[in-house]
Amino acid sequence: MSTNAIEDISERIVKAGRELYDHGLVIGTSGNISARIPGTDTFLIKPSGIRMEAVEPEELVLVNFQGRKIKGKLNVSLETPMHAAIYRARKDAQAVVHTHAPTATAFGIAKTEILPLQIEMFMLLPNGVPIIPFKAPGSKALAEAVQKKIANYDALILENHGIVTVGSTIEAACSLNEMVEEGAKIQFLVMILAGRDAVNLAELKKMFKM
Ligand SMILES: [Zn+2]
Repeated sequence: MSTNAIEDISERIVKAGRELYDHGLVIGTSGNISARIPGTDTFLIKPSGIRMEAVEPEELVLVNFQGRKIKGKLNVSLETPMHAAIYRARKDAQAVVHTHAPTATAFGIAKTEILPLQIEMFMLLPNGVPIIPFKAPGSKALAEAVQKKIANYDALILENHGIVTVGSTIEAACSLNEMVEEGAKIQFLVMILAGRDAVNLAELKKMFKM
């Protein structure tokens, strides 16, 4: 992989991180974003302790698929084991985005899965967004639980913590994170307007004929 290609990936990570901040999906130093370096068993990840909107491309940390730092001055993100586990499980995943998107996170706390209520969301997440039972942030147990579930889903809720999405590009993983948050807001309104029973995955599948 050429230096130019790595620079391009770094710049796209930084730009995507700023968008996550602008859209209110991350605050403070929370959330992390990473991208695979194609053709290698490594990925670039946001460093720990730096605000998403303030990260500079040269501050990103290069890590291998065992989660060990290969290059970079700063410490790796706390959730690096989870990102590494996802790249090991999903050869197609080019990027991973973890945020504490507030509405989607609230669904996890309420133990309510987010369903694909609109057709656009259904096309990307036909089985909705399931909840991974609580495991300590940064733990091996969380990485293992996510690794198992991510094989069949592109978006997961981490109970009492946040959400994680994968994508075939950095931009796709970010857009999916935003879509899950928007879907959660819509589902919340639907449940207030029409009750909890108004949303049902079997009914959605029938309506969208998938
Ligand atoms: Zn987190």
